Amino acid sequence: MAHKATFFNCERWGDEAKSYLEGSAKLKVADVTVEFVDDILSKDKIPAPGSAAANFDIAGVFMDSPVDAAVIAALPELKFIATLSTGFDHIDLSAAAARGIPVSSVPAYGENTVAEFAFALILALSRKIIKANARVRVEGKFTTDGLCGFDLAGKTIGVIGTGRIGKHAIRMAKGFGMNIVAYDVYHDDAFAKEIGFTYLSLEDLLKQSDIITIHAPYLPSTHHLINMDNVRLIKRGAILINTARGAIVETKAVVEALKDGTLAGAGLDVLEEEVAMKAGDMSLDANLIQLPNVIVTPHDAFNTHEAFIRILDTTIDNIVAFVNGAPTNVVKAPAAEAK
Ligand code: NAD
Repeated sequence: MAHKATFFNCERWGDEAKSYLEGSAKLKVADVTVEFVDDILSKDKIPAPGSAAANFDIAGVFMDSPVDAAVIAALPELKFIATLSTGFDHIDLSAAAARGIPVSSVPAYGENTVAEFAFALILALSRKIIKANARVRVEGKFTTDGLCGFDLAGKTIGVIGTGRIGKHAIRMAKGFGMNIVAYDVYHDDAFAKEIGFTYLSLEDLLKQSDIITIHAPYLPSTHHLINMDNVRLIKRGAILINTARGAIVETKAVVEALKDGTLAGAGLDVLEEEVAMKAGDMSLDANLIQLPNVIVTPHDAFNTHEAFIRILDTTIDNIVAFVNGAPTNVVKAPAAEAK
Protein backbone atom coordinates (compact mmCIF):
# COMPACT_ATOMS: atom_id res chain seq x y z
CA MET A 1 0.00 0.00 0.00
CA ALA A 2 1.33 3.41 -0.97
CA HIS A 3 1.88 6.04 1.74
CA LYS A 4 2.46 9.78 1.69
CA ALA A 5 4.61 11.44 4.36
CA THR A 6 4.37 15.24 4.58
CA PHE A 7 7.11 16.98 6.58
CA PHE A 8 6.45 20.40 8.08
CA ASN A 9 8.94 23.22 8.59
CA CYS A 10 11.92 21.18 7.41
CA GLU A 11 13.64 24.15 5.81
CA ARG A 12 15.54 24.96 9.01
CA TRP A 13 18.13 22.45 7.84
CA GLY A 14 18.12 23.65 4.27
CA ASP A 15 17.67 21.59 1.17
CA GLU A 16 19.96 18.85 2.45
CA ALA A 17 17.30 17.53 4.84
CA LYS A 18 14.75 17.46 2.04
CA SER A 19 17.08 15.64 -0.35
CA TYR A 20 18.05 13.20 2.41
CA LEU A 21 14.41 12.25 2.97
CA GLU A 22 13.53 12.28 -0.75
CA GLY A 23 16.54 10.10 -1.53
CA SER A 24 15.95 7.60 1.26
CA ALA A 25 16.08 4.07 -0.18
CA LYS A 26 14.34 2.76 2.95
CA LEU A 27 11.33 5.03 2.36
CA LYS A 28 11.22 4.07 -1.32
CA VAL A 29 11.24 0.36 -0.48
CA ALA A 30 8.41 1.01 2.01
CA ASP A 31 6.48 2.78 -0.80
CA VAL A 32 6.45 6.11 1.04
CA THR A 33 6.45 9.27 -1.08
CA VAL A 34 7.68 12.45 0.58
CA GLU A 35 6.25 15.97 0.45
CA PHE A 36 7.29 19.16 2.26
CA VAL A 37 5.52 22.21 3.61
CA ASP A 38 7.74 25.15 4.54
CA ASP A 39 5.59 26.01 7.51
CA ILE A 40 4.36 24.40 10.69
CA LEU A 41 1.33 22.13 10.89
CA SER A 42 -1.42 23.77 12.93
CA LYS A 43 -5.19 24.08 12.81
CA ASP A 44 -4.89 27.22 10.66
CA LYS A 45 -2.26 25.73 8.40
CA ILE A 46 -3.68 22.46 7.12
CA PRO A 47 -2.43 21.87 3.54
CA ALA A 48 -5.09 22.90 1.04
CA PRO A 49 -7.12 20.02 -0.42
CA GLY A 50 -5.75 19.05 -3.79
CA SER A 51 -2.24 20.40 -3.06
CA ALA A 52 0.71 18.01 -3.36
CA ALA A 53 1.21 18.00 0.40
CA ALA A 54 -2.45 17.27 1.27
CA ASN A 55 -4.04 13.90 2.05
CA PHE A 56 -0.98 12.52 3.80
CA ASP A 57 -1.28 9.53 6.10
CA ILE A 58 2.08 10.23 7.79
CA ALA A 59 2.97 13.60 9.35
CA GLY A 60 6.59 14.55 10.09
CA VAL A 61 6.65 17.45 12.56
CA PHE A 62 8.99 19.36 14.87
CA MET A 63 8.34 20.80 18.32
CA ASP A 64 6.97 23.95 16.66
CA SER A 65 3.89 22.22 15.18
CA PRO A 66 1.05 22.10 17.72
CA VAL A 67 -0.63 18.86 16.68
CA ASP A 68 -3.71 19.25 18.85
CA ALA A 69 -7.14 17.63 18.70
CA ALA A 70 -8.33 20.15 16.08
CA VAL A 71 -5.43 19.33 13.76
CA ILE A 72 -5.98 15.61 14.15
CA ALA A 73 -9.72 16.02 13.49
CA ALA A 74 -8.94 18.02 10.33
CA LEU A 75 -6.79 15.21 8.92
CA PRO A 76 -9.07 12.22 8.37
CA GLU A 77 -6.39 10.32 6.41
CA LEU A 78 -3.76 10.66 9.14
CA LYS A 79 -2.51 7.32 10.45
CA PHE A 80 0.93 8.05 11.95
CA ILE A 81 2.80 11.00 13.47
CA ALA A 82 6.60 11.06 13.50
CA THR A 83 8.01 13.90 15.57
CA LEU A 84 11.59 14.83 14.72
CA SER A 85 12.32 15.58 18.37
CA THR A 86 12.77 13.86 21.69
CA GLY A 87 10.00 15.87 23.35
CA PHE A 88 6.39 15.29 22.36
CA ASP A 89 4.37 17.72 24.45
CA HIS A 90 3.33 19.54 21.24
CA ILE A 91 1.18 16.54 20.29
CA ASP A 92 -2.20 15.70 21.82
CA LEU A 93 -1.49 12.03 22.51
CA SER A 94 -5.01 11.35 23.79
CA ALA A 95 -6.59 12.71 20.60
CA ALA A 96 -4.12 10.65 18.55
CA ALA A 97 -4.80 7.52 20.61
CA ALA A 98 -8.57 8.00 20.26
CA ARG A 99 -8.09 7.74 16.48
CA GLY A 100 -5.61 4.82 16.82
CA ILE A 101 -2.75 6.99 15.53
CA PRO A 102 0.63 5.98 16.95
CA VAL A 103 3.16 8.75 17.65
CA SER A 104 6.89 8.07 17.43
CA SER A 105 9.72 10.32 18.61
CA VAL A 106 13.52 10.37 18.46
CA PRO A 107 14.64 9.28 21.92
CA ALA A 108 18.31 10.20 21.57
CA TYR A 109 20.34 12.00 18.94
CA GLY A 110 22.67 14.52 20.46
CA GLU A 111 24.29 13.57 23.74
CA ASN A 112 27.78 14.57 22.64
CA THR A 113 26.34 17.39 20.51
CA VAL A 114 24.76 19.21 23.45
CA ALA A 115 27.72 18.55 25.76
CA GLU A 116 30.09 19.99 23.13
CA PHE A 117 27.92 23.10 22.96
CA ALA A 118 28.02 23.45 26.75
CA PHE A 119 31.82 23.47 26.50
CA ALA A 120 31.65 25.98 23.66
CA LEU A 121 29.80 28.31 26.05
CA ILE A 122 32.20 27.54 28.91
CA LEU A 123 35.28 28.29 26.79
CA ALA A 124 33.70 31.37 25.23
CA LEU A 125 33.25 32.74 28.75
CA SER A 126 36.49 31.49 30.32
CA ARG A 127 38.59 32.92 27.47
CA LYS A 128 36.37 35.96 26.67
CA ILE A 129 36.13 34.87 23.05
CA ILE A 130 33.17 37.11 22.16
CA LYS A 131 34.93 40.17 23.58
CA ALA A 132 38.25 39.21 21.94
CA ASN A 133 36.61 38.81 18.56
CA ALA A 134 34.88 42.19 18.91
CA ARG A 135 38.22 43.75 19.92
CA VAL A 136 39.69 42.93 16.52
CA ARG A 137 36.70 43.06 14.22
CA VAL A 138 34.54 45.78 15.78
CA GLU A 139 37.07 47.94 17.68
CA GLY A 140 39.81 47.38 15.08
CA LYS A 141 42.48 46.80 17.76
CA PHE A 142 44.87 43.86 18.04
CA THR A 143 45.41 44.16 21.81
CA THR A 144 44.80 41.87 24.76
CA ASP A 145 44.02 44.40 27.51
CA GLY A 146 41.14 43.17 29.63
CA LEU A 147 41.01 39.81 27.87
CA CYS A 148 42.80 37.78 30.56
CA GLY A 149 40.76 34.62 31.14
CA PHE A 150 41.15 31.56 33.33
CA ASP A 151 42.26 27.95 32.84
CA LEU A 152 39.75 25.12 33.05
CA ALA A 153 42.45 22.69 34.26
CA GLY A 154 42.29 22.43 38.02
CA LYS A 155 38.90 24.17 38.30
CA THR A 156 35.84 22.44 39.71
CA ILE A 157 32.87 21.80 37.44
CA GLY A 158 29.51 20.91 38.96
CA VAL A 159 27.33 18.85 36.65
CA ILE A 160 23.62 18.86 37.47
CA GLY A 161 22.09 15.77 35.85
CA THR A 162 24.41 12.89 35.00
CA GLY A 163 22.31 11.27 32.28
CA ARG A 164 23.30 10.91 28.64
CA ILE A 165 24.39 14.52 28.06
CA GLY A 166 25.77 15.03 31.57
CA LYS A 167 27.99 11.96 31.19
CA HIS A 168 29.48 13.35 27.97
CA ALA A 169 30.08 16.68 29.71
CA ILE A 170 31.82 14.84 32.55
CA ARG A 171 34.10 12.95 30.15
CA MET A 172 34.98 16.22 28.41
CA ALA A 173 35.68 17.90 31.75
CA LYS A 174 37.99 15.01 32.63
CA GLY A 175 39.86 15.66 29.39
CA PHE A 176 40.35 19.29 30.42
CA GLY A 177 41.86 18.17 33.73
CA MET A 178 39.01 19.54 35.81
CA ASN A 179 37.82 18.38 39.21
CA ILE A 180 34.28 17.08 38.82
CA VAL A 181 31.37 17.05 41.23
CA ALA A 182 27.78 16.19 40.35
CA TYR A 183 24.23 16.32 41.57
CA ASP A 184 21.51 13.94 40.44
CA VAL A 185 18.51 12.30 42.08
CA TYR A 186 19.89 9.05 40.69
CA HIS A 187 23.55 8.16 41.35
CA ASP A 188 25.52 6.17 38.79
CA ASP A 189 28.16 5.07 41.24
CA ALA A 190 29.94 2.78 38.75
CA PHE A 191 30.39 5.70 36.33
CA ALA A 192 31.47 7.99 39.17
CA LYS A 193 34.10 5.45 40.17
CA GLU A 194 35.27 4.90 36.59
CA ILE A 195 35.76 8.64 35.96
CA GLY A 196 36.65 9.65 39.49
CA PHE A 197 34.00 12.16 40.53
CA THR A 198 31.81 12.68 43.56
CA TYR A 199 28.07 13.14 43.94
CA LEU A 200 27.16 16.01 46.26
CA SER A 201 23.97 17.62 47.48
CA LEU A 202 22.81 20.47 45.25
CA GLU A 203 23.76 22.94 47.97
CA ASP A 204 27.32 21.62 48.22
CA LEU A 205 27.68 21.56 44.44
CA LEU A 206 26.68 25.22 44.27
CA LYS A 207 29.17 26.08 47.04
CA GLN A 208 32.11 24.23 45.48
CA SER A 209 31.79 24.69 41.71
CA ASP A 210 33.68 27.23 39.62
CA ILE A 211 31.47 26.24 36.70
CA ILE A 212 27.94 24.89 37.03
CA THR A 213 26.42 23.15 34.02
CA ILE A 214 22.83 21.92 33.92
CA HIS A 215 21.87 18.69 32.12
CA ALA A 216 18.67 17.69 33.94
CA PRO A 217 15.21 17.48 32.35
CA TYR A 218 12.51 20.03 33.02
CA LEU A 219 10.10 18.46 35.49
CA PRO A 220 7.99 19.82 38.32
CA SER A 221 10.88 18.77 40.58
CA THR A 222 13.43 20.76 38.54
CA HIS A 223 11.32 23.91 38.09
CA HIS A 224 13.51 26.75 39.42
CA LEU A 225 16.05 24.26 40.74
CA ILE A 226 18.37 27.26 40.94
CA ASN A 227 16.33 30.02 42.53
CA MET A 228 16.33 33.16 44.68
CA ASP A 229 16.92 31.07 47.82
CA ASN A 230 19.85 28.90 46.78
CA VAL A 231 21.57 31.26 44.31
CA ARG A 232 23.34 32.91 47.25
CA LEU A 233 25.13 29.59 47.91
CA ILE A 234 26.97 29.77 44.57
CA LYS A 235 30.73 30.20 44.92
CA ARG A 236 31.54 33.84 44.23
CA GLY A 237 32.71 34.37 40.65
CA ALA A 238 31.33 31.09 39.29
CA ILE A 239 29.92 30.64 35.80
CA LEU A 240 26.51 29.13 35.09
CA ILE A 241 25.78 27.19 31.90
CA ASN A 242 22.26 26.11 30.97
CA THR A 243 21.71 24.03 27.85
CA ALA A 244 18.83 22.04 29.39
CA ARG A 245 15.58 24.01 29.81
CA GLY A 246 15.06 27.67 30.71
CA ALA A 247 12.66 27.23 33.60
CA ILE A 248 15.13 25.06 35.54
CA VAL A 249 16.68 28.40 36.49
CA GLU A 250 14.72 31.31 37.98
CA THR A 251 15.63 34.19 35.66
CA LYS A 252 15.39 36.82 38.40
CA ALA A 253 17.86 34.89 40.55
CA VAL A 254 20.44 34.77 37.73
CA VAL A 255 20.02 38.47 36.98
CA GLU A 256 20.59 39.32 40.66
CA ALA A 257 23.57 36.96 40.90
CA LEU A 258 25.18 38.43 37.78
CA LYS A 259 24.63 41.98 38.99
CA ASP A 260 26.07 41.42 42.46
CA GLY A 261 29.05 39.38 41.21
CA THR A 262 27.98 36.04 42.67
CA LEU A 263 28.10 34.85 39.08
CA ALA A 264 30.92 36.11 36.88
CA GLY A 265 29.11 35.00 33.76
CA ALA A 266 26.36 32.87 32.29
CA GLY A 267 26.08 30.88 29.07
CA LEU A 268 22.43 30.25 28.29
CA ASP A 269 21.07 28.30 25.34
CA VAL A 270 17.61 28.15 26.89
CA LEU A 271 15.48 30.82 28.55
CA GLU A 272 12.28 30.79 30.55
CA GLU A 273 10.54 32.98 27.98
CA GLU A 274 11.98 31.44 24.85
CA VAL A 275 8.61 30.38 23.40
CA ALA A 276 7.45 34.02 23.33
CA MET A 277 10.89 35.06 22.06
CA LYS A 278 10.68 32.60 19.18
CA ALA A 279 7.38 34.24 18.29
CA GLY A 280 9.22 37.57 18.07
CA ASP A 281 8.73 39.13 21.52
CA MET A 282 12.34 39.90 22.49
CA SER A 283 11.31 42.15 25.39
CA LEU A 284 11.03 39.21 27.76
CA ASP A 285 14.11 38.15 29.68
CA ALA A 286 15.63 41.42 28.41
CA ASN A 287 17.17 42.20 31.82
CA LEU A 288 19.15 39.01 31.50
CA ILE A 289 20.18 38.96 27.87
CA GLN A 290 21.43 42.54 27.89
CA LEU A 291 23.94 41.96 30.71
CA PRO A 292 27.51 42.17 29.41
CA ASN A 293 28.80 38.93 30.94
CA VAL A 294 26.05 36.78 29.46
CA ILE A 295 26.14 34.73 26.28
CA VAL A 296 22.71 33.77 24.96
CA THR A 297 22.07 31.40 22.05
CA PRO A 298 18.66 30.52 20.55
CA HIS A 299 18.17 26.93 21.78
CA ASP A 300 20.86 25.85 19.40
CA ALA A 301 22.81 23.19 21.30
CA PHE A 302 21.35 20.29 19.33
CA ASN A 303 21.98 21.94 16.00
CA THR A 304 24.76 20.10 14.19
CA HIS A 305 24.87 18.36 10.86
CA GLU A 306 25.57 15.00 12.49
CA ALA A 307 22.70 15.40 14.96
CA PHE A 308 20.16 16.23 12.28
CA ILE A 309 21.26 13.26 10.19
CA ARG A 310 20.74 11.08 13.30
CA ILE A 311 17.28 12.63 13.75
CA LEU A 312 16.38 11.95 10.11
CA ASP A 313 17.73 8.38 10.25
CA THR A 314 15.65 7.55 13.33
CA THR A 315 12.59 9.22 11.80
CA ILE A 316 12.98 7.20 8.58
CA ASP A 317 13.28 4.02 10.67
CA ASN A 318 10.21 5.04 12.70
CA ILE A 319 8.18 5.52 9.50
CA VAL A 320 9.34 2.24 7.97
CA ALA A 321 8.52 0.42 11.22
CA PHE A 322 5.01 1.91 11.14
CA VAL A 323 4.53 0.89 7.51
CA ASN A 324 5.64 -2.62 8.44
CA GLY A 325 3.01 -2.76 11.17
CA ALA A 326 5.33 -2.58 14.18
CA PRO A 327 5.92 1.08 15.13
CA THR A 328 9.05 1.82 17.13
CA ASN A 329 9.93 4.57 19.62
CA VAL A 330 6.24 4.99 20.29
CA VAL A 331 5.38 7.65 22.82
CA LYS A 332 2.81 6.21 25.16
CA ALA A 333 2.67 8.27 28.33
CA PRO A 334 0.99 11.67 28.40
CA ALA A 335 3.65 14.41 28.42
CA ALA A 336 2.55 15.84 31.76
CA GLU A 337 6.05 15.73 33.25
CA ALA A 338 8.88 16.14 30.79
CA LYS A 339 9.01 19.03 28.35
P1 NAD B 1 18.73 12.01 30.47
O1 NAD B 1 17.33 11.61 30.77
O2 NAD B 1 19.65 11.03 29.87
O3 NAD B 1 19.44 12.55 31.81
C1 NAD B 1 18.82 13.41 32.69
C2 NAD B 1 19.43 13.22 34.06
O4 NAD B 1 18.82 14.17 34.94
C3 NAD B 1 19.16 11.82 34.65
O5 NAD B 1 20.36 11.27 35.15
C4 NAD B 1 18.17 12.10 35.76
O6 NAD B 1 18.29 11.19 36.88
C5 NAD B 1 18.55 13.51 36.17
N1 NAD B 1 17.50 14.16 36.93
C6 NAD B 1 16.15 13.96 36.88
N2 NAD B 1 15.54 14.72 37.80
C7 NAD B 1 16.51 15.42 38.43
C8 NAD B 1 16.49 16.36 39.49
N3 NAD B 1 15.35 16.73 40.08
N4 NAD B 1 17.67 16.87 39.91
C9 NAD B 1 18.83 16.48 39.32
N5 NAD B 1 18.91 15.59 38.32
C10 NAD B 1 17.76 15.06 37.89
O7 NAD B 1 18.60 13.32 29.58
P2 NAD B 1 19.68 13.90 28.57
O8 NAD B 1 19.55 13.23 27.25
O9 NAD B 1 21.01 13.91 29.24
O10 NAD B 1 19.12 15.40 28.38
C11 NAD B 1 19.08 16.31 29.46
C12 NAD B 1 18.24 17.49 29.07
O11 NAD B 1 18.90 18.27 28.07
C13 NAD B 1 16.91 17.14 28.37
O12 NAD B 1 15.91 16.81 29.32
C14 NAD B 1 16.58 18.38 27.59
O13 NAD B 1 15.78 19.23 28.39
C15 NAD B 1 17.94 19.03 27.38
N6 NAD B 1 18.28 19.09 25.94
C16 NAD B 1 18.56 20.30 25.40
C17 NAD B 1 18.89 20.42 24.06
C18 NAD B 1 19.22 21.75 23.44
O14 NAD B 1 19.26 21.86 22.21
N7 NAD B 1 19.51 22.79 24.22
C19 NAD B 1 18.93 19.27 23.26
C20 NAD B 1 18.65 18.03 23.84
C21 NAD B 1 18.33 17.95 25.19
